[in-house]
Amino acid sequence: MKQIVVVGGGISGLTCTAYLARAGYKVLLLEKNNEFGGLVSSIEHNGFTFEAGVRALVNAGIILPMLNDLGIQLEMVPNKVSIGIEDKIIHVDSKEDVEKYREMLIDLYSGSSNEIYNFIRRMQKITGYVDTMYKIDNPVFRDLKKDREFLLKKLLPWLPRFLLTLQKINMLNEPVEQYVARFISDPSVRDIITQHFFKSTPAFFALGYFAIYAEYYYPIGGVGRLAEAVQKKALELKAELKTGKLIREVNAAEQYVIDQNGAKYKYDYLVWAADLPTFYDIVNLNGLPLNIKNKVLNLKSKFRKARSSESVFSLYLEVDLPLEYFGRISQGHFFYTPSKKGLGTIHTSELESLPEDFAYNNKDEILSWLDRFLEHNTFEISIPGLRDKNLVPEGKTGLIISFLTEFWLFEKVKQAGWYEEFKDIIENKIIDILSRTIYNGLKERIEHRFSFTPLSIKKRIASTNGAIVGWSFERDVPAVSNMLKVNQSVLTPLPNTFQTGQWTYSPAGVPMAILTGKLAADKLLKCK
Ligand SMILES: Cc1cc2nc3c(=O)[nH]c(=O)nc-3n(C[C@H](O)[C@H](O)[C@H](O)COP(=O)(O)OP(=O)(O)OC[C@H]3O[C@@H](n4cnc5c(N)ncnc54)[C@H](O)[C@@H]3O)c2cc1C
Repeated sequence: MKQIVVVGGGISGLTCTAYLARAGYKVLLLEKNNEFGGLVSSIEHNGFTFEAGVRALVNAGIILPMLNDLGIQLEMVPNKVSIGIEDKIIHVDSKEDVEKYREMLIDLYSGSSNEIYNFIRRMQKITGYVDTMYKIDNPVFRDLKKDREFLLKKLLPWLPRFLLTLQKINMLNEPVEQYVARFISDPSVRDIITQHFFKSTPAFFALGYFAIYAEYYYPIGGVGRLAEAVQKKALELKAELKTGKLIREVNAAEQYVIDQNGAKYKYDYLVWAADLPTFYDIVNLNGLPLNIKNKVLNLKSKFRKARSSESVFSLYLEVDLPLEYFGRISQGHFFYTPSKKGLGTIHTSELESLPEDFAYNNKDEILSWLDRFLEHNTFEISIPGLRDKNLVPEGKTGLIISFLTEFWLFEKVKQAGWYEEFKDIIENKIIDILSRTIYNGLKERIEHRFSFTPLSIKKRIASTNGAIVGWSFERDVPAVSNMLKVNQSVLTPLPNTFQTGQWTYSPAGVPMAILTGKLAADKLLKCK
């Protein structure tokens, strides 16, 4: 029987493995860490469960159908979102709550009320488009030959509306900051609307978020349960799963991969489900025809010109305050901005013009920038215990507070020798800001704290620059970005080799990692 090797046991590699095993093929999954899941994982510490990666799951017509198709039971609860700016907080329970968002913005920026009103009407339209996109189960997870009812009653009637919506969405590809500027003149309002997205996120993706909030889920036991459930299914289906195997070389002509100890794994088919720039760096092209070599070199040059997505700084707090204290302020997933002024150019041109050298004598300038950055930023606050109370010890609460940030900032501080101090300063500053604004008395009740920086993310999952969603939108993306061409995203120029995961389609995230995992399995199975 032919041997399939999958490299990378994140949610994409796990999904692909499960599908290949279900089709009856011999499949071996190799993961560098001692556990699977990659950016879909939960950790436990002192009786608290926290997310090490993504904080909740957006169905997007993909996650629930995949679970259903593979026969996986996973108990999930709705992941309710709150949005806060200074002392105003709204709770989002449905996409109609965009009207509460409008009222909050008008309350804060009364001089822009007409502009805000018009802008939110536009946002409601975009929310409608996203709603249409995700309205039905992605057909990739349905057997259309057998499931005639789905085909005739759901898919075919939806298709014309989907194609029309896709056209509209394709016209909304411009960066969200630029798009919002066409409606709103006050830079603070623009920042508040856009600053918690990745820089230059396509407008449709960012502004359709109220449709997404209504489709947000949290697995009982933590987000990592999703990866555990797919892993268990892959094992049940007789896939072979190995941890502690870091693949250092791919020999594309002789068809084997080599791990950190020099062990070789021969394959008939390879699926690369880990960091894509690394794949093209470690692939040995000796013995391949020139046209293939040229295609790979061409891709590598596109990768060099592109940029990886921003990464994230996450502060974990174990707090001696009950869940009720935090539940009175927000729901379990909270986007909070302590100042209505907005980031302005702090995270763009001011960041870029920091001193080249981060040595100690430039520390004051860097810390002054950091201070402004944190004071004006938006924090994503995740409170696992408010979704599942069993994730915290009785009477206590775990918080994950994070913000998007650049890998190079932390790398430079590390090179300059004050990384631990920098981390400590950020942790203290966040705690000060939140104790002063929404969480009165928080500081005194923290029992333990720790944080993960972009460098920790890179170390754990080996993604280029600690990227958490693959490519950045700030430059040309060297991946497929058109839904109608999503099938092509998993192809590589190399013989019998497929790619999957967050680097293969943009915008990426958990749903697209799962979808490309299934598509890679489907394409591979068609070759045989
Ligand atoms: C804080 C945070 C918030 C997020 N928010 C969202 C969100 O709201 N919505 C959303 O959709 N997505 C979100 N994401 C992104 C989402 O989690 C990822 O895009 C997705 O999980 C990527 O899955 P993947 O399988 O493609 O890659 P990964 O999870 O990176 O998996 C790759 C795996 O390959 C392994 N590996 C790497 N190199 C090698 C090697 N050489 N040999 C063997 N194994 C290797 C890694 O250890 C890892 O397990 C967020 C992520 C984070 C961290």
